[in-house]
Amino acid sequence: MNAATDKLFDIVIRNVRIEEGGVLVDIAVQEGRIAAIGPRLRCEAIEDVDGRGAFAFAGFIDTHIHLDKVCILDRCRICEGTLAEAVRETTKAKLTFDEDDVYARAARIVEKAITHGTVRMRTFVEVDPRAGFRSFAAIKRIREDYAFAVDIEICAFAQEGLTNEPETWDMLDMALANGADLIGGCPYMDPDPEGHIERIFELARKYDVAIDFHLDFDLDPDHTDLPAVIAATRKHGWQGRVATGHVTNLSALPPANVAAIAQELAAAGIALTVLPSTDLFLNGRSHDRLVPRGVAPAHLIAEHGVTTTIATNNVQNPFTPYGDASLLRMANFYANIAQLSRDEDIARVFDMVGRSAARLLEMPYGLSVDGDATIVLIDSSGPKSAIREIARVIAGWKNGAKSFDNGRPQLHKPATKGTRP
Ligand SMILES: [Zn+2]
Repeated sequence: MNAATDKLFDIVIRNVRIEEGGVLVDIAVQEGRIAAIGPRLRCEAIEDVDGRGAFAFAGFIDTHIHLDKVCILDRCRICEGTLAEAVRETTKAKLTFDEDDVYARAARIVEKAITHGTVRMRTFVEVDPRAGFRSFAAIKRIREDYAFAVDIEICAFAQEGLTNEPETWDMLDMALANGADLIGGCPYMDPDPEGHIERIFELARKYDVAIDFHLDFDLDPDHTDLPAVIAATRKHGWQGRVATGHVTNLSALPPANVAAIAQELAAAGIALTVLPSTDLFLNGRSHDRLVPRGVAPAHLIAEHGVTTTIATNNVQNPFTPYGDASLLRMANFYANIAQLSRDEDIARVFDMVGRSAARLLEMPYGLSVDGDATIVLIDSSGPKSAIREIARVIAGWKNGAKSFDNGRPQLHKPATKGTRP
């Protein structure tokens, strides 16, 4: 850390902790980068902020959200609460999406995400004959208009099959040529899952981009596309560039089998994202009691060196009729349903919406001198207490520019007895 003294910086954020229960430090920012971190920096700044003991970190990273289909409960029916129904209802709604409608719904959720401390997200966007390029055009505008606060990467996504609908493949190709950052597939929706996986890799290779698969979204471990994804990742040399989402059937396996699969994932450089809210809502619908949780044990899989993350997925639609894009709330939700209590597990859960999530997106992360001044303050003494309490997110800066401020709560206590006239 630099011992900067008597300098005029753009911003200094004083009295914050950068690790659980650590000493209070000041963070000085100059031209979008962190210029110094240390206790009681002797310096002046144009903007001098008192962090009042808050925890400062590099912000939350949402590795998996569907901004194109958020907030459509007003036009969908939920009777069964199954995956099949969610896809069916959303397909119908998608036909009516226009660019401004997608923009307005996505903007509402992106703004919530920003105030919850999210600084980067990977959004899937469906590009197919039903959605056309309308959602894609809207989300590209969102990416540009909210870049002051959040970096958005767009994953052109085949939700409804590929080998059965060759037009979709051509449209994904066009999306990648016109601003999509990566490609996403959904083998379980395709009559030929292995063919689907191969076609996705074909496009990834053509544009040299990462891949994100929705995979094995059920509770039947005997029905899995994971071996095909592992084999294709090795064959194409795509280690470190492939992520999988859901893989909920891992929750139906004994721990020894989960460990064996985790080792395979680690060796193949394949990441896993769990989507607790959706996984819980859609799984186990055939049970009328003792309903299984259906969320893959990401914390156990992480122990084997797999990059694991917790993410939002859907917000207020037939896949998940809840949501506010708060990753701290989602991480707390995961810790609760996974029955975690140990400090090291809670710390790992925080990483799954922070450092580990950044690793999945292949981006640098953390607060360090000369690094980006993307800083979020949470009203807690560190990551573990933030998860346990779902602590309040206070304010954030992106590359040295303030991007949001939630203010501090204020109690209005009645005057003590005897002090009133
Ligand atoms: Zn998803």
